[in-house]
Amino acid sequence: MMMVKRFALVGIMAWLAAACVTTNEVTGRSQFITIPPAQDDALGLEAMNQVKSEAPVRTTGPDARRVQRIGARIAAISDRPDFNWEFVVIDEPVLNAWALPGGKVAIYKKMVDTFPEDDMLAAVIGHEIAHAVLRHGAEQVSRGQLTNTVLAAAGLAVGAATGDGQSTQLAMTLGTLAAQGFVMLPHGRAMELEADHVGTIYMAKAGYDPRRAVDLWRRMQTMKDGNGGPPAFLSTHPTDDKRIARLEANMPDYLAVYAPR
Ligand SMILES: [Zn+2]
Repeated sequence: MMMVKRFALVGIMAWLAAACVTTNEVTGRSQFITIPPAQDDALGLEAMNQVKSEAPVRTTGPDARRVQRIGARIAAISDRPDFNWEFVVIDEPVLNAWALPGGKVAIYKKMVDTFPEDDMLAAVIGHEIAHAVLRHGAEQVSRGQLTNTVLAAAGLAVGAATGDGQSTQLAMTLGTLAAQGFVMLPHGRAMELEADHVGTIYMAKAGYDPRRAVDLWRRMQTMKDGNGGPPAFLSTHPTDDKRIARLEANMPDYLAVYAPR
C-alpha cells in the first residue's frame, strides 16, 4: 500500500514538472511556471481588484488617459494584443510601475510626472507590457513562495479532478497569495534583460524612440524616491550598468523596427 502511494506521488511530481516547464513563444527560453496560462487573466483581474480596493487607483483623468493612450498603442503591436489590457495610474508619490498576469499595468503618479515626454514614459510602459506578455509575474511567483503551496495544491487538484467547487476555492486562495507576490517580488536578472529587449522592440514598433529607453534607465539610476533612497521601481526591477550597455549594443536592431509617427 505504502509502495503504491509513493508511486503515485512520484507520478504527480513528474506530471507537475512536465506541466510547469514551458518554452516561451516570444523568447524561446524555458520557464518554470506552475500557473496555467488560462488562469493568468483571472489572477491578474483579482489582483488588480484587490489593489483598487486598497490604493488610490485612477482610471480617468489626464494622467490615466495619457498612460492608457501610450499603453494601448504598444499593447496593440505586442505579441499579445488579445490580452484584456488595462492601464491605470496609482496616485501616490512613488517612482514605481508593475504589471500583473494577463495585462494589468499600473504606473505611479510620480513616474508619470517625472517623465513628461511620451517616449520616456513609453519605455517604462513597454517594459511592463513585456513583463506581462512574457509571463514574468507567474514565473517569479512560481519560483518563490508559492512553489510549496502549488505542489500541495497539485496533489489536491489531481485527487479532486472532478470536484469543481474545491478547485475554484483553491484557485481563489492561490490568487490572493499571488496578488502579493506579483507586485512585491523582484524580477530576476534574466527577466529584466528580456523585458528591456522585448519592451524596447515594442515601443519602437509602436513609434516611440527606442533611444529614450537608455535615457530612462540612466535617469532612474541617479534618482531618489520620497524617502531619499533609490526609486521603488529599482527594488522590483533590479538594474546595473550592464543592462544599459546591452540596450545600447542592441540599439541598431531597435532603430531598424522604429517607425516614427
Ligand atoms: Zn522589470
